[in-house]
Amino acid sequence: MTDSPPSPSLASLIGADTSMVHDASRAYLLRLLDQQSPIVLPNYSSPIEHSQYQRLREQIATSTTLAALAGDARLETLLQQWIQLQQGYTKQVIAGVKDGVKGQQELLAVADAELREGEADREAFERLKRTAVGDLDEAGFVKVHDHFLTNKEGVFVAGEVHDSHYKQAVTAAGYGCSAALEAEKWLEGLE
Ligand SMILES: Cc1cc2nc3c(=O)[nH]c(=O)nc-3n(C[C@H](O)[C@H](O)[C@H](O)COP(=O)(O)OP(=O)(O)OC[C@H]3O[C@@H](n4cnc5c(N)ncnc54)[C@H](O)[C@@H]3O)c2cc1C
Repeated sequence: MTDSPPSPSLASLIGADTSMVHDASRAYLLRLLDQQSPIVLPNYSSPIEHSQYQRLREQIATSTTLAALAGDARLETLLQQWIQLQQGYTKQVIAGVKDGVKGQQELLAVADAELREGEADREAFERLKRTAVGDLDEAGFVKVHDHFLTNKEGVFVAGEVHDSHYKQAVTAAGYGCSAALEAEKWLEGLE
């Protein structure tokens, strides 16, 4: 039967050479370790601030260094706390990122629904225009002839409903005046 090799101490795993530490120094390191405030890990029932995470990380790092150099048994607990802190905070960060992505997806879904609704409105509007005024061009603008007259007798249009070129308030207003004159002339012709 062969002896299994001695397992490395936790202190040596994190690079601390306890053999170099003098007894007097070890006593001093232990005193410092005893003076450290107790480490209270968050339970993450609510998110913790990054500054709180940093404070805890520094606190654990200080105690870990002291315990490792002094060869103190508390090192085991401290390393476990270190892992718990890192895992808990990492989970919180990942959850935050997932929430952000979910929020963006929800916004996109709403925007998508609104766009579809807008598309449906546009189609209804096109149908209405065809029913009310008849012929439309390929882009969906009302076809006019003889100065703002549509292919429906007595129906005149003006503005963006027929103008795919200028699409300006001022031109629409001008077309409105012209169409009104044409309509007046058409009405006079009825008399
Ligand atoms: C964001 C934006 C910025 C613009 N900025 C400028 C600018 O700086 N300068 C400029 O000159 N032009 C600008 N324009 C363009 C200008 O607004 C339009 O060219 C102009 O409003 C067209 O006038 P219109 O009377 O033809 O149509 P609209 O102003 O669209 O009027 C049509 C009206 O008919 C109503 N209507 C529709 N369907 C029905 C129905 N079935 N029954 C009853 N009412 C109905 C609508 O509610 C609307 O009030 C801008 C346009 C947009 C969208």
